[in-house]
Amino acid sequence: MIDDARGRVLVAGGGIAGLAAARALHRRGVPVLALERRTAPEDGGLAINLPGNAVQALGQLGLGDALERVGSPVRRREYRTHRGQLLFAVDEAAFWGEAACPRCLRRSDLQRLLGQDLPPEAIRRGGTIRAVRATASGVSVDLGEGGVEQGGLLVGADGVHSTVRRSMFGEQATRAAVLGQASWRFMAPNPGIDAWTLWAGAGGLFLLIPVDTDAVYGWVSISRTGAGERDLAKVRRVFAPFPRLVQDTLDRVLVHPDAIHHSPLEEVRIARWTQGRVLLAGDAAHATAPVWAQGAALALEDALVLADLLGREADWNTVGLAYEARRRPRVAHVQAMTDRLSRTAALPDWARNRLLPVIGPRSYRAAYAPLREPVSVWERTGDGRGASVQGA
Ligand SMILES: Cc1cc2nc3c(=O)[nH]c(=O)nc-3n(C[C@H](O)[C@H](O)[C@H](O)COP(=O)(O)OP(=O)(O)OC[C@H]3O[C@@H](n4cnc5c(N)ncnc54)[C@H](O)[C@@H]3O)c2cc1C
Repeated sequence: MIDDARGRVLVAGGGIAGLAAARALHRRGVPVLALERRTAPEDGGLAINLPGNAVQALGQLGLGDALERVGSPVRRREYRTHRGQLLFAVDEAAFWGEAACPRCLRRSDLQRLLGQDLPPEAIRRGGTIRAVRATASGVSVDLGEGGVEQGGLLVGADGVHSTVRRSMFGEQATRAAVLGQASWRFMAPNPGIDAWTLWAGAGGLFLLIPVDTDAVYGWVSISRTGAGERDLAKVRRVFAPFPRLVQDTLDRVLVHPDAIHHSPLEEVRIARWTQGRVLLAGDAAHATAPVWAQGAALALEDALVLADLLGREADWNTVGLAYEARRRPRVAHVQAMTDRLSRTAALPDWARNRLLPVIGPRSYRAAYAPLREPVSVWERTGDGRGASVQGA
Protein backbone atom coordinates (compact mmCIF):
# COMPACT_ATOMS: atom_id res chain seq x y z
CA MET A 1 0.00 0.00 0.00
CA ILE A 2 1.31 3.46 -0.85
CA ASP A 3 2.58 5.34 2.17
CA ASP A 4 1.28 8.88 1.56
CA ALA A 5 -2.05 10.12 2.96
CA ARG A 6 -3.98 8.10 0.33
CA GLY A 7 -2.67 4.88 1.85
CA ARG A 8 -3.43 5.91 5.39
CA VAL A 9 -6.61 5.12 7.31
CA LEU A 10 -8.04 7.84 9.54
CA VAL A 11 -10.03 6.68 12.54
CA ALA A 12 -12.44 9.05 14.28
CA GLY A 13 -12.42 8.27 18.01
CA GLY A 14 -10.04 6.53 20.38
CA GLY A 15 -12.56 4.52 22.41
CA ILE A 16 -12.79 0.74 22.26
CA ALA A 17 -13.70 0.63 18.55
CA GLY A 18 -11.17 3.30 17.54
CA LEU A 19 -8.25 1.87 19.50
CA ALA A 20 -9.07 -1.65 18.33
CA ALA A 21 -9.21 -0.47 14.71
CA ALA A 22 -5.89 1.37 15.06
CA ARG A 23 -4.31 -1.68 16.68
CA ALA A 24 -5.68 -4.16 14.15
CA LEU A 25 -4.60 -1.98 11.20
CA HIS A 26 -1.15 -1.38 12.65
CA ARG A 27 -0.69 -5.12 13.11
CA ARG A 28 -1.63 -5.60 9.45
CA GLY A 29 0.93 -3.00 8.40
CA VAL A 30 -1.66 -0.44 7.27
CA PRO A 31 -0.69 3.15 8.23
CA VAL A 32 -3.30 4.59 10.58
CA LEU A 33 -4.04 7.77 12.51
CA ALA A 34 -6.73 7.73 15.22
CA LEU A 35 -8.09 11.14 16.20
CA GLU A 36 -9.56 11.34 19.70
CA ARG A 37 -11.16 14.51 21.05
CA ARG A 38 -10.29 13.78 24.69
CA THR A 39 -6.78 14.35 25.95
CA ALA A 40 -7.10 11.37 28.33
CA PRO A 41 -9.56 8.45 28.48
CA GLU A 42 -12.69 9.19 30.55
CA ASP A 43 -14.19 6.01 31.92
CA GLY A 44 -15.34 7.13 35.35
CA GLY A 45 -13.37 4.29 36.95
CA LEU A 46 -16.00 1.85 35.66
CA ALA A 47 -15.57 -1.74 34.53
CA ILE A 48 -16.85 -3.69 31.55
CA ASN A 49 -18.06 -7.25 31.13
CA LEU A 50 -16.57 -9.07 28.16
CA PRO A 51 -18.40 -12.18 26.92
CA GLY A 52 -16.37 -14.97 25.34
CA ASN A 53 -16.45 -13.59 21.80
CA ALA A 54 -14.85 -10.34 23.06
CA VAL A 55 -12.16 -12.41 24.79
CA GLN A 56 -11.58 -14.30 21.52
CA ALA A 57 -11.35 -11.06 19.56
CA LEU A 58 -8.79 -9.68 22.03
CA GLY A 59 -6.79 -12.87 21.51
CA GLN A 60 -6.86 -12.21 17.76
CA LEU A 61 -5.58 -8.72 18.51
CA GLY A 62 -2.58 -10.26 20.26
CA LEU A 63 -3.81 -9.50 23.77
CA GLY A 64 -4.75 -12.95 25.07
CA ASP A 65 -1.93 -13.23 27.62
CA ALA A 66 -2.14 -9.60 28.73
CA LEU A 67 -5.88 -9.98 29.33
CA GLU A 68 -5.28 -12.75 31.85
CA ARG A 69 -3.44 -10.29 34.08
CA VAL A 70 -6.37 -7.87 34.48
CA GLY A 71 -9.84 -8.24 36.00
CA SER A 72 -11.42 -11.61 36.80
CA PRO A 73 -12.89 -14.47 34.84
CA VAL A 74 -16.70 -14.63 35.00
CA ARG A 75 -17.28 -18.36 35.37
CA ARG A 76 -20.90 -18.44 36.44
CA ARG A 77 -24.02 -16.41 35.73
CA GLU A 78 -27.07 -16.39 38.00
CA TYR A 79 -30.53 -14.96 37.31
CA ARG A 80 -32.54 -14.40 40.51
CA THR A 81 -35.93 -13.02 41.48
CA HIS A 82 -36.17 -9.77 43.42
CA ARG A 83 -36.41 -11.91 46.56
CA GLY A 84 -33.18 -13.71 45.76
CA GLN A 85 -34.60 -17.02 44.53
CA LEU A 86 -32.41 -18.60 41.84
CA LEU A 87 -34.29 -18.89 38.52
CA PHE A 88 -31.44 -20.40 36.53
CA ALA A 89 -27.67 -20.41 36.33
CA VAL A 90 -25.18 -20.80 33.51
CA ASP A 91 -21.72 -22.33 33.73
CA GLU A 92 -20.06 -19.74 31.50
CA ALA A 93 -16.60 -21.28 31.70
CA ALA A 94 -17.97 -24.59 30.39
CA PHE A 95 -20.06 -22.88 27.72
CA TRP A 96 -17.27 -20.72 26.25
CA GLY A 97 -14.31 -22.95 27.17
CA GLU A 98 -11.42 -21.91 29.40
CA ALA A 99 -9.59 -20.03 26.65
CA ALA A 100 -12.58 -17.79 25.96
CA CYS A 101 -14.00 -17.59 29.47
CA PRO A 102 -15.83 -14.24 29.89
CA ARG A 103 -14.00 -11.59 31.89
CA CYS A 104 -14.86 -8.45 33.82
CA LEU A 105 -12.18 -5.79 34.00
CA ARG A 106 -11.73 -2.09 34.44
CA ARG A 107 -12.38 -0.06 31.29
CA SER A 108 -9.08 1.75 31.84
CA ASP A 109 -7.28 -1.63 31.67
CA LEU A 110 -9.03 -2.50 28.42
CA GLN A 111 -8.11 0.87 26.89
CA ARG A 112 -4.51 0.49 28.06
CA LEU A 113 -4.23 -2.98 26.53
CA LEU A 114 -5.69 -1.86 23.21
CA GLY A 115 -3.32 1.10 23.06
CA GLN A 116 -0.18 -0.76 24.06
CA ASP A 117 2.46 -1.15 21.32
CA LEU A 118 0.76 1.47 19.16
CA PRO A 119 3.38 3.91 17.85
CA PRO A 120 2.83 7.49 19.08
CA GLU A 121 2.12 8.69 15.55
CA ALA A 122 -0.88 6.33 15.33
CA ILE A 123 -3.01 8.33 17.77
CA ARG A 124 -3.54 12.02 18.25
CA ARG A 125 -5.44 13.13 21.33
CA GLY A 126 -7.19 16.44 21.86
CA GLY A 127 -8.46 16.75 18.28
CA THR A 128 -12.22 16.97 17.69
CA ILE A 129 -13.44 16.11 14.22
CA ARG A 130 -15.94 18.74 13.17
CA ALA A 131 -16.66 17.85 9.56
CA VAL A 132 -15.90 15.16 7.00
CA ARG A 133 -15.46 15.66 3.27
CA ALA A 134 -14.98 13.18 0.45
CA THR A 135 -12.00 14.07 -1.76
CA ALA A 136 -10.77 12.77 -5.11
CA SER A 137 -8.27 10.47 -3.40
CA GLY A 138 -10.11 9.62 -0.20
CA VAL A 139 -11.35 11.62 2.77
CA SER A 140 -10.47 14.83 4.56
CA VAL A 141 -11.45 15.64 8.16
CA ASP A 142 -11.68 19.12 9.60
CA LEU A 143 -10.35 19.45 13.16
CA GLY A 144 -11.16 23.14 13.55
CA GLU A 145 -8.13 24.87 14.99
CA GLY A 146 -6.40 21.47 14.93
CA GLY A 147 -6.17 21.74 11.14
CA VAL A 148 -7.11 19.19 8.50
CA GLU A 149 -6.07 15.56 8.12
CA GLN A 150 -6.24 13.53 4.91
CA GLY A 151 -6.59 9.81 4.49
CA GLY A 152 -7.50 7.20 1.92
CA LEU A 153 -10.40 6.05 4.08
CA LEU A 154 -12.13 7.11 7.30
CA VAL A 155 -13.46 4.79 10.00
CA GLY A 156 -16.09 6.58 12.09
CA ALA A 157 -15.59 5.02 15.53
CA ASP A 158 -16.79 8.12 17.36
CA GLY A 159 -19.55 6.56 19.43
CA VAL A 160 -23.30 6.67 19.69
CA HIS A 161 -23.55 10.39 18.86
CA SER A 162 -21.11 10.10 15.96
CA THR A 163 -20.15 13.27 14.11
CA VAL A 164 -18.97 11.16 11.18
CA ARG A 165 -22.38 9.47 10.94
CA ARG A 166 -24.13 12.84 10.99
CA SER A 167 -21.80 14.20 8.33
CA MET A 168 -22.42 11.27 6.01
CA PHE A 169 -26.03 10.33 6.64
CA GLY A 170 -27.61 13.51 7.96
CA GLU A 171 -29.30 14.48 11.20
CA GLN A 172 -32.12 11.96 10.92
CA ALA A 173 -29.84 8.96 11.04
CA THR A 174 -28.03 10.19 14.13
CA ARG A 175 -31.11 10.16 16.33
CA ALA A 176 -30.38 7.32 18.71
CA ALA A 177 -33.40 5.52 20.10
CA VAL A 178 -33.58 5.83 23.87
CA LEU A 179 -35.07 2.70 25.39
CA GLY A 180 -37.79 3.25 27.94
CA GLN A 181 -35.59 2.77 30.97
CA ALA A 182 -33.29 4.79 33.15
CA SER A 183 -30.01 3.15 33.97
CA TRP A 184 -26.94 3.74 36.13
CA ARG A 185 -23.48 2.22 36.43
CA PHE A 186 -21.16 2.22 39.43
CA MET A 187 -18.32 0.45 41.21
CA ALA A 188 -18.80 -0.82 44.78
CA PRO A 189 -16.96 -2.91 47.36
CA ASN A 190 -17.56 -6.58 46.62
CA PRO A 191 -20.27 -7.74 49.07
CA GLY A 192 -19.03 -11.34 48.72
CA ILE A 193 -20.34 -12.46 45.35
CA ASP A 194 -18.29 -14.60 43.01
CA ALA A 195 -20.71 -14.84 40.04
CA TRP A 196 -22.36 -12.50 37.56
CA THR A 197 -25.65 -12.01 39.44
CA LEU A 198 -28.85 -10.34 38.26
CA TRP A 199 -31.85 -9.72 40.47
CA ALA A 200 -35.02 -8.90 38.50
CA GLY A 201 -38.17 -7.51 40.05
CA ALA A 202 -41.12 -5.23 39.59
CA GLY A 203 -39.77 -2.18 37.87
CA GLY A 204 -36.06 -2.81 38.33
CA LEU A 205 -33.00 -4.87 37.45
CA PHE A 206 -29.92 -4.98 39.65
CA LEU A 207 -26.73 -6.55 38.30
CA LEU A 208 -23.42 -7.10 40.07
CA ILE A 209 -20.31 -8.57 38.44
CA PRO A 210 -17.12 -9.23 40.43
CA VAL A 211 -14.10 -7.38 39.06
CA ASP A 212 -11.90 -8.87 41.77
CA THR A 213 -12.32 -9.93 45.39
CA ASP A 214 -12.47 -6.27 46.47
CA ALA A 215 -14.72 -4.67 43.86
CA VAL A 216 -17.90 -5.28 41.88
CA TYR A 217 -19.19 -3.52 38.80
CA GLY A 218 -22.86 -2.66 39.15
CA TRP A 219 -25.64 -1.80 36.74
CA VAL A 220 -29.12 -0.75 37.80
CA SER A 221 -32.02 -0.19 35.50
CA ILE A 222 -35.50 1.07 36.25
CA SER A 223 -38.50 0.64 34.00
CA ARG A 224 -41.20 2.46 35.93
CA THR A 225 -39.89 5.90 36.53
CA GLY A 226 -40.99 9.35 35.56
CA ALA A 227 -39.69 10.52 32.20
CA GLY A 228 -36.40 12.29 32.69
CA GLU A 229 -35.71 10.72 36.08
CA ARG A 230 -31.95 10.79 36.62
CA ASP A 231 -31.60 10.49 40.38
CA LEU A 232 -31.00 6.93 41.60
CA ALA A 233 -31.65 7.95 45.21
CA LYS A 234 -35.19 9.00 44.27
CA VAL A 235 -36.01 5.64 42.70
CA ARG A 236 -34.42 3.61 45.48
CA ARG A 237 -37.90 2.51 46.63
CA VAL A 238 -38.02 0.16 43.62
CA PHE A 239 -35.36 -1.95 45.33
CA ALA A 240 -36.94 -1.99 48.78
CA PRO A 241 -38.19 -5.60 48.35
CA PHE A 242 -34.81 -6.81 47.02
CA PRO A 243 -32.39 -8.88 49.17
CA ARG A 244 -30.36 -7.27 51.96
CA LEU A 245 -27.15 -7.60 49.92
CA VAL A 246 -28.64 -5.45 47.14
CA GLN A 247 -29.85 -2.80 49.55
CA ASP A 248 -26.55 -2.69 51.45
CA THR A 249 -24.70 -2.27 48.17
CA LEU A 250 -27.04 0.54 47.14
CA ASP A 251 -26.54 2.24 50.51
CA ARG A 252 -22.78 2.17 50.05
CA VAL A 253 -23.01 3.46 46.50
CA LEU A 254 -25.38 6.30 47.35
CA VAL A 255 -22.87 7.68 49.86
CA HIS A 256 -20.81 8.76 46.82
CA PRO A 257 -23.38 10.06 44.34
CA ASP A 258 -20.62 11.49 42.13
CA ALA A 259 -19.43 7.95 41.42
CA ILE A 260 -22.84 6.90 40.07
CA HIS A 261 -23.05 7.27 36.33
CA HIS A 262 -26.41 7.90 34.76
CA SER A 263 -26.23 5.85 31.56
CA PRO A 264 -29.03 6.34 29.05
CA LEU A 265 -29.64 3.23 26.98
CA GLU A 266 -29.41 4.38 23.40
CA GLU A 267 -29.46 2.39 20.23
CA VAL A 268 -28.37 3.01 16.67
CA ARG A 269 -30.05 0.97 13.95
CA ILE A 270 -29.40 2.31 10.51
CA ALA A 271 -29.68 0.85 7.04
CA ARG A 272 -26.14 1.68 5.90
CA TRP A 273 -22.78 1.88 7.65
CA THR A 274 -20.73 2.92 4.68
CA GLN A 275 -20.66 5.63 2.08
CA GLY A 276 -17.79 5.69 -0.36
CA ARG A 277 -14.63 5.64 1.68
CA VAL A 278 -16.28 6.38 5.00
CA LEU A 279 -17.21 3.40 7.21
CA LEU A 280 -18.83 3.31 10.62
CA ALA A 281 -17.71 0.93 13.38
CA GLY A 282 -18.65 0.18 16.99
CA ASP A 283 -21.43 2.19 18.63
CA ALA A 284 -21.44 4.72 15.78
CA ALA A 285 -22.78 1.96 13.53
CA HIS A 286 -24.80 -0.24 15.85
CA ALA A 287 -25.00 0.81 19.53
CA THR A 288 -27.23 -1.78 21.18
CA ALA A 289 -28.72 -1.95 24.68
CA PRO A 290 -26.28 -3.92 26.88
CA VAL A 291 -28.64 -6.87 27.35
CA TRP A 292 -26.00 -9.35 26.12
CA ALA A 293 -22.99 -7.05 26.82
CA GLN A 294 -22.01 -7.11 23.15
CA GLY A 295 -20.90 -3.48 22.68
CA ALA A 296 -17.18 -4.05 23.10
CA ALA A 297 -17.26 -7.45 21.42
CA LEU A 298 -18.89 -6.12 18.26
CA ALA A 299 -16.52 -3.13 18.20
CA LEU A 300 -13.47 -5.43 18.47
CA GLU A 301 -14.81 -7.72 15.76
CA ASP A 302 -15.53 -4.77 13.46
CA ALA A 303 -11.90 -3.76 13.86
CA LEU A 304 -10.61 -7.24 12.99
CA VAL A 305 -12.76 -7.47 9.86
CA LEU A 306 -11.86 -3.95 8.72
CA ALA A 307 -8.15 -4.58 9.13
CA ASP A 308 -8.45 -7.88 7.30
CA LEU A 309 -10.17 -6.20 4.35
CA LEU A 310 -8.00 -3.09 4.25
CA GLY A 311 -4.83 -5.11 4.59
CA ARG A 312 -5.82 -7.40 1.74
CA GLU A 313 -7.83 -5.37 -0.76
CA ALA A 314 -5.95 -3.10 -3.13
CA ASP A 315 -9.13 -1.21 -4.03
CA TRP A 316 -10.49 0.57 -0.97
CA ASN A 317 -13.57 1.72 -2.90
CA THR A 318 -15.09 -1.72 -2.54
CA VAL A 319 -14.15 -2.36 1.08
CA GLY A 320 -17.28 -0.70 2.52
CA LEU A 321 -19.68 -3.13 0.87
CA ALA A 322 -17.53 -6.13 1.76
CA TYR A 323 -17.36 -4.91 5.37
CA GLU A 324 -21.15 -4.57 5.64
CA ALA A 325 -21.68 -7.97 4.04
CA ARG A 326 -19.38 -9.59 6.60
CA ARG A 327 -20.60 -7.76 9.68
CA ARG A 328 -24.34 -7.31 9.17
CA PRO A 329 -25.48 -10.88 9.95
CA ARG A 330 -23.67 -11.04 13.27
CA VAL A 331 -24.83 -7.59 14.37
CA ALA A 332 -28.42 -8.34 13.28
CA HIS A 333 -28.30 -11.50 15.35
CA VAL A 334 -27.26 -9.55 18.47
CA GLN A 335 -29.96 -6.94 17.86
CA ALA A 336 -32.67 -9.60 17.47
CA MET A 337 -31.55 -11.38 20.65
CA THR A 338 -31.46 -8.05 22.49
CA ASP A 339 -35.06 -7.31 21.52
CA ARG A 340 -36.18 -10.77 22.48
CA LEU A 341 -34.73 -10.67 26.01
CA SER A 342 -35.85 -7.06 26.51
CA ARG A 343 -39.43 -8.20 25.94
CA THR A 344 -39.04 -10.97 28.52
CA ALA A 345 -37.56 -8.52 31.03
CA ALA A 346 -40.64 -6.33 30.65
CA LEU A 347 -43.08 -9.12 31.62
CA PRO A 348 -44.90 -8.97 34.98
CA ASP A 349 -42.98 -10.68 37.80
CA TRP A 350 -45.18 -13.78 37.98
CA ALA A 351 -44.86 -14.47 34.25
CA ARG A 352 -41.14 -13.76 34.07
CA ASN A 353 -40.41 -15.93 37.11
CA ARG A 354 -42.31 -18.85 35.59
CA LEU A 355 -40.85 -18.47 32.13
CA LEU A 356 -37.19 -17.76 32.85
CA PRO A 357 -36.20 -21.14 34.32
CA VAL A 358 -37.38 -22.66 31.02
CA ILE A 359 -36.53 -20.07 28.39
CA GLY A 360 -33.59 -18.43 30.19
CA PRO A 361 -30.99 -21.14 29.48
CA ARG A 362 -32.34 -21.44 25.93
CA SER A 363 -32.10 -17.69 25.37
CA TYR A 364 -28.52 -17.69 26.63
CA ARG A 365 -27.59 -20.45 24.18
CA ALA A 366 -29.55 -18.89 21.32
CA ALA A 367 -27.82 -15.55 21.86
CA TYR A 368 -24.28 -16.70 22.45
CA ALA A 369 -23.85 -20.05 20.64
CA PRO A 370 -23.51 -18.43 17.19
CA LEU A 371 -21.00 -15.96 18.63
CA ARG A 372 -18.69 -18.70 19.89
CA GLU A 373 -17.30 -19.21 16.41
CA PRO A 374 -14.35 -16.83 16.09
CA VAL A 375 -15.30 -13.94 13.87
CA SER A 376 -13.41 -14.96 10.71
CA VAL A 377 -14.94 -18.46 10.71
CA TRP A 378 -18.44 -17.17 11.38
CA GLU A 379 -18.33 -14.79 8.47
CA ARG A 380 -17.38 -17.54 6.06
CA THR A 381 -20.86 -18.95 6.52
CA GLY A 382 -22.35 -15.48 6.79
CA ASP A 383 -25.71 -16.45 8.22
CA GLY A 384 -24.88 -18.06 11.52
CA ARG A 385 -25.71 -21.56 10.27
CA GLY A 386 -22.04 -22.39 10.41
CA ALA A 387 -22.14 -21.73 14.09
CA SER A 388 -23.38 -25.12 15.21
CA VAL A 389 -22.05 -25.47 18.67
CA GLN A 390 -20.79 -28.51 20.46
CA GLY A 391 -22.26 -28.89 23.87
CA ALA A 392 -24.82 -26.14 23.39
C1 LIG B 1 -25.20 1.12 30.73
C2 LIG B 1 -24.25 0.50 29.73
C3 LIG B 1 -23.55 -0.65 30.08
C4 LIG B 1 -22.70 -1.26 29.16
N1 LIG B 1 -22.05 -2.38 29.53
C5 LIG B 1 -21.30 -3.02 28.64
C6 LIG B 1 -20.62 -4.22 28.97
O1 LIG B 1 -20.67 -4.69 30.12
N2 LIG B 1 -19.91 -4.86 28.00
C7 LIG B 1 -19.81 -4.35 26.73
O2 LIG B 1 -19.14 -4.95 25.89
N3 LIG B 1 -20.39 -3.19 26.39
C8 LIG B 1 -21.13 -2.52 27.32
N4 LIG B 1 -21.72 -1.36 26.97
C9 LIG B 1 -21.52 -0.82 25.61
C10 LIG B 1 -20.09 -0.32 25.41
O3 LIG B 1 -19.74 0.59 26.42
C11 LIG B 1 -19.98 0.35 24.05
O4 LIG B 1 -20.53 -0.49 23.07
C12 LIG B 1 -18.54 0.63 23.69
O5 LIG B 1 -17.96 1.50 24.62
C13 LIG B 1 -18.50 1.28 22.30
O6 LIG B 1 -17.22 1.71 22.02
P1 LIG B 1 -16.99 2.79 20.85
O7 LIG B 1 -15.53 2.96 20.77
O8 LIG B 1 -17.76 2.40 19.65
O9 LIG B 1 -17.67 4.12 21.39
P2 LIG B 1 -17.21 5.05 22.59
O10 LIG B 1 -16.74 4.25 23.73
O11 LIG B 1 -18.32 6.01 22.83
O12 LIG B 1 -15.94 5.83 22.02
C14 LIG B 1 -16.09 6.86 21.07
C15 LIG B 1 -14.86 7.75 21.19
O13 LIG B 1 -14.93 8.75 20.16
C16 LIG B 1 -14.56 10.00 20.72
N5 LIG B 1 -15.21 11.02 19.89
C17 LIG B 1 -16.53 11.30 19.81
N6 LIG B 1 -16.76 12.28 18.93
C18 LIG B 1 -15.54 12.64 18.43
C19 LIG B 1 -15.13 13.60 17.47
N7 LIG B 1 -16.00 14.40 16.84
N8 LIG B 1 -13.80 13.72 17.20
C20 LIG B 1 -12.89 12.92 17.81
N9 LIG B 1 -13.24 12.00 18.75
C21 LIG B 1 -14.55 11.85 19.04
C22 LIG B 1 -15.07 9.95 22.14
O14 LIG B 1 -14.40 10.87 22.97
C23 LIG B 1 -14.81 8.50 22.52
O15 LIG B 1 -13.53 8.33 23.10
C24 LIG B 1 -22.55 -0.71 27.87
C25 LIG B 1 -23.22 0.46 27.53
C26 LIG B 1 -24.08 1.05 28.44
C27 LIG B 1 -24.80 2.31 28.04
